[in-house]
Amino acid sequence: MARWKNWSGRQQAAPEALHFLRSQADAAALVNRARLDGKGIRVAGSGHSHSPLVLSSDWIIDVSGLAGITDVDHEQKTAWIYAGTPMYSLGRALHDEGLALHNQGDIDRQTIAGACATGTHGTGRKLGNMSSAVLAVEVITGKGEVVICSADHEPEFFAVARLGLGAAGIITRLQLQLRESYKLRENGLDMAFSDLFQQLPELAASHDRFEFFWHPQSDRATVKLTDETTDQPEYPLAEEGRRCAWNYEVLPSYRPHLHTEMEYSVAEELGPACLAELRQMIQTEFSEIRWPVEYRTLAADNVWLSTASERQTVTISVHEDIRLDDSVYFAACERIFRRYQGRPHWGKVNNLGAKEFQESYPHWLDWWRVRDQFDPDDVFVNDYLASIRP
Ligand SMILES: Cc1cc2nc3c(=O)[nH]c(=O)nc-3n(C[C@H](O)[C@H](O)[C@H](O)COP(=O)(O)OP(=O)(O)OC[C@H]3O[C@@H](n4cnc5c(N)ncnc54)[C@H](O)[C@@H]3O)c2cc1C
Repeated sequence: MARWKNWSGRQQAAPEALHFLRSQADAAALVNRARLDGKGIRVAGSGHSHSPLVLSSDWIIDVSGLAGITDVDHEQKTAWIYAGTPMYSLGRALHDEGLALHNQGDIDRQTIAGACATGTHGTGRKLGNMSSAVLAVEVITGKGEVVICSADHEPEFFAVARLGLGAAGIITRLQLQLRESYKLRENGLDMAFSDLFQQLPELAASHDRFEFFWHPQSDRATVKLTDETTDQPEYPLAEEGRRCAWNYEVLPSYRPHLHTEMEYSVAEELGPACLAELRQMIQTEFSEIRWPVEYRTLAADNVWLSTASERQTVTISVHEDIRLDDSVYFAACERIFRRYQGRPHWGKVNNLGAKEFQESYPHWLDWWRVRDQFDPDDVFVNDYLASIRP
């Protein structure tokens, strides 16, 4: 029996088979076999989602053999990226072409397809999540067909596949909008929460990238302000909060401690009030919590299932040690997030059902309607997706 587990080990599966793909032809053959045999397929990236997206008792597909970049267009600043390309090798490969991602998350262990499939994001009021940079997607659908979709070709399927939760099919390549390579300087600050809270909107507006971790035990915050610079890179890289180097060297951080995480996106103007309520609740009801609360900003986009879909956003996340039970703490946080019309990160913990997702996303029914057309046998729907289906 094969085994699969996610980064933290909290999500585990014993699929009938683990398949390794190296080509588009492999992928199409596998989908056709799954349809004949009545098997389900879930594609795994690097397993950094906390949610049960990858789990399957049938087949789990590893696409790490599909890696690298092709068809670089220097004039348009675009490139096609193979789905299994890890972010840590993508940054350097793009830099060698004089190009860069607009933004990325705070680790670089994800694959590009996995990051886009869940709306992975970094921070920055003017910077969208990864899926918002997708220009076209090459997919093997649930009918075993190769479809290349974009805003001009199969636009509705593109709206599904650019943030597809692994349910649009096997993604083999994505075309991304890039920009010229750039350097960043970080400035880390330690601030009393009350001081930070007063300056929050101003700090978020006056830096390219603004984020902080609030530490419940000390009531202080570790703030990170990151801005583009023309300064020379400084090697060896300093510790987090003091680095100055190329974008792909500064944006990822080292996160070795296993944890679970719940993250919600709320409208930017509601962010401070939501955070204040969360802080008060943690201080009064969960005074033992040691893991910090993270606060980031995110630009609005038009991606159907993006947490920033049609609204300027802040993201707030709570964490817990993987060895501890997070359920009571996370449920209490989730009640607050939901009162602020929060939308959960697809790759992190949530307890929502179909009804709540439908209330949260104007295109929830469209997403399922179009997805179903391209996968009529539900090859790519696992138990979790079935449980939240309209
Ligand atoms: C330590 C840590 C730090 C994190 N930091 C951030 C952060 O800063 N910002 C943020 O937004 N998130 C963050 N996350 C969440 C993480 O970015 C997402 O969960 C992301 O999806 C993980 O990518 P992955 O390659 O591991 O994909 P997986 O978790 O393996 O898969 C995610 C989804 O992508 C689908 N998928 C993957 N490859 C394909 C493919 N080729 N075709 C079709 N579907 C595919 C899967 O089926 C699944 O539905 C973090 C997670 C951890 C554990």
